[in-house]
Amino acid sequence: MTLGGCRVKKRQGLPVSASGTLQARPGLGGQRENYVTTDQPELPETLDVIAVGAHPDDVEIAVGGTLASMVRRGLRVGIVDLTDGEPTPLSPGPEVRLEEARNAAEVLGVQVRETLALPNRRLFDGFEERIALAKVFRRYRPKMVMGIADKTPMASPDHWQASQITDAAVFYSRLTKWDELFENLPVHRITSQIWYPLGFQNLSLPEGGGRFISDISDTLDVKLESIRVYKTQFPPTKQRVFELVESQNRLLGVTAGFKAGEMLISTSALGIRDVFGTLCGGDQSSS
Ligand SMILES: [Zn+2]
Repeated sequence: MTLGGCRVKKRQGLPVSASGTLQARPGLGGQRENYVTTDQPELPETLDVIAVGAHPDDVEIAVGGTLASMVRRGLRVGIVDLTDGEPTPLSPGPEVRLEEARNAAEVLGVQVRETLALPNRRLFDGFEERIALAKVFRRYRPKMVMGIADKTPMASPDHWQASQITDAAVFYSRLTKWDELFENLPVHRITSQIWYPLGFQNLSLPEGGGRFISDISDTLDVKLESIRVYKTQFPPTKQRVFELVESQNRLLGVTAGFKAGEMLISTSALGIRDVFGTLCGGDQSSS
């Protein structure tokens, strides 16, 4: 199944792409549009995918298996937490939670994790919040962004705010004539946006352009391990969280013919170029 022309070229060992110096690219005749201006900040190596959560552990719980699988396929993946998730009842403080977040990222194998300084419990979709996240997109220039799908009743209202901030930041990332708001970071158009459900306690299905199941048969264990890293959030008394996550992932996977799966929602309709090949696993013979 293809997602809007989101093919990724293998890019191993590529250097950081922006130099920040005034120079013409060789062999292009020195036309004006080929110059990089001195005002542009130096940029890190690009990421293929960025998954955004409100708190450290949101992304692991919802799409940890998919991210681990993407990393195994050679993609460069990043996680952005809008807040540090603190305070919480059992955590001694933000340093411990951040350490857990770093360790969980290591378990999944993702290349980048950034935790923004927006306030936990008081996260609201606002202009500054949208700009803060769009700056991250402009710096890392991902092809795909994954964000929370919907409200999470009985859980933190930050999740719904994060969902709206992410939707807006995907749009802000590509807007021209606003350079002063983005520290002159270059505009970046994101190819594909995906929503992930985080409300596990109801059976309603979020709306969207197309739901599909991501195969995490080989990475469910890694996902669960990355969640267990958050000892301050999931002590033994909260063992039911693991049962909930695992049983849902098993059920979703089985419905699509996998051992385990995560549900994702494309914001646009999904297209299939090769219907038989996609749905029959590439077996084109009738024998
Ligand atoms: Zn959360």
